[in-house]
Amino acid sequence: VAATVLVVEDERKLRELVRSYLERAGFTVLSTESGAEALTLAASAAPDLVVLDLGLPDVPGETIARELRAAGSTPIVMLTARSAEEDRIRGLELGADDYVTKPFSPRELVLRVKRLLRSTAAEHEKADHFLWKELEIDIPRHEVKVKGRALDLTSTEFKLLSTLALRRGRVQSREALLRDVWEYDSLIDTRTVDTHMRRLREKLGPAAKYLGTVRGVGYRFADE
Ligand code: CA
Repeated sequence: VAATVLVVEDERKLRELVRSYLERAGFTVLSTESGAEALTLAASAAPDLVVLDLGLPDVPGETIARELRAAGSTPIVMLTARSAEEDRIRGLELGADDYVTKPFSPRELVLRVKRLLRSTAAEHEKADHFLWKELEIDIPRHEVKVKGRALDLTSTEFKLLSTLALRRGRVQSREALLRDVWEYDSLIDTRTVDTHMRRLREKLGPAAKYLGTVRGVGYRFADE
C-alpha cells in the first residue's frame, strides 16, 4: 500500500508542484490550501506524513503542528518561507520532524519525505530494547522488567506499553491506540483503552509514573 501524504499549502502552484512530484514518487497525495481543512483531513484520512506550510492564511501552521502532535505521531515536514535560524528551531520545537526553506527543490522535498517515512518505520520495527531508568522492555521477547523484576503482562498490556514507549513524548489518542494496539478498524469503545491502561499502571508500580494521561486526548509516555 502506497503511503499517503497530506500537503497543506495555500500557494496553488506550489501545492500542485509538490503534489505532482510526490505522486510521481508513488505516494497517494491529499492536498488542501486551508489549515482548518487540514485538521479535518488529518483526522479522517490518517495520512502517513504531513507536508505543512508554516504561513497559512486561515489557521497558522504552528497551530496545525501542535494539534497534529496532540492527536498522534504523524511525521511533519514543515515548509517555511522564513529562513531565520529562530524560525527553524521553533518549527522543530513545535513537533516538526524536518523542514525545508522556500524556495526549495521539489526533488529534495521528496527525498526528505522518503527518508522520514523510512526512519519512522525503522523506529517501529528495529527497536528491540527499550530502557528508561528502572523500566526495561525487551520487545522480541515480550519481557518487561521494573528494577530488574520481571512483570507478568498480558499481550495487550505489553503492546500498549511498548507502543507508548517507542513513541515517547508523543501523545497517542485513544483512537490511535485502538488502531495500533488492538488493530481495530472501527472504533468499538475507547473506554477499553482506559481499562487496560489502569491494569497496566497497577502492574508497573513505580514505573507507572511514566504513563501520563493527556486529558480529553489520550496517553503519553513521558518523564513523570
Ligand atoms: Ca503560505
